Amino acid sequence: MTDGPVLLLSCEHASNRIPDEYRHLFHGCGSLIASHRGYDPGALACARAIGRRLRAPLIAASCSRLLVDLNRSPGHPALFSALTRTLPRKEKDRVLTRYYHPHRARVERWVEARITAGHRVVHVAVHSFTPVLDGVTRKADIGLLYDPARRVEAALCQRWRAALQESGSGSLTVRRNYPYRGASDGLTRYLRTRFPASRYAGIELEINHGRLRGNADQEQLAATLAATLRQSLRK
Ligand SMILES: [Zn+2]
Repeated sequence: MTDGPVLLLSCEHASNRIPDEYRHLFHGCGSLIASHRGYDPGALACARAIGRRLRAPLIAASCSRLLVDLNRSPGHPALFSALTRTLPRKEKDRVLTRYYHPHRARVERWVEARITAGHRVVHVAVHSFTPVLDGVTRKADIGLLYDPARRVEAALCQRWRAALQESGSGSLTVRRNYPYRGASDGLTRYLRTRFPASRYAGIELEINHGRLRGNADQEQLAATLAATLRQSLRK
């Protein structure tokens, strides 16, 4: 066993698939489903490319956040979208059982097994964000989200940001806890309640999807992200 942490990638907003049994709820919503409100465009391809380069497993969701948002906790007002919020309780429970809990449980079990085996785990949840939200242009290419109260996470993100800025991709603007705060509701926040800071570091990688428009963009950025993450994990 090496001293370094083991890496897990996940992608909660990988897909905009609506399972057949729920299609009737989404009539006339094609453009919504295709938009960033339906999924994180480019995130899955980028996560796969990072995983290939670092030989890290990837656990990716297979349904749209418009059905149920895997990055929100049970009870959160945005767990269900405007299109699924009015479903009867029983039907919501069914959605949770079939599409929500399996992904969250897979990630949790993977982390738990590695920690039980004596490893430290770095979990990077890969997301993308829309360049312009409600008329406001986001001023970053990459956001690294973490809990400032967890020193291992803060230090890792500091190293990763520095490595990205020194990587020769000088045009990349990398910000910490932007465009969201890492301590906000999400899968990593939940896992922090399950595992100690000394064993588990949960980072959300937020990529401006203006940077992920073509396959070449995705590959190039993934190569840079993977190389700099590898470098940051070594220290
Ligand atoms: Zn996301």
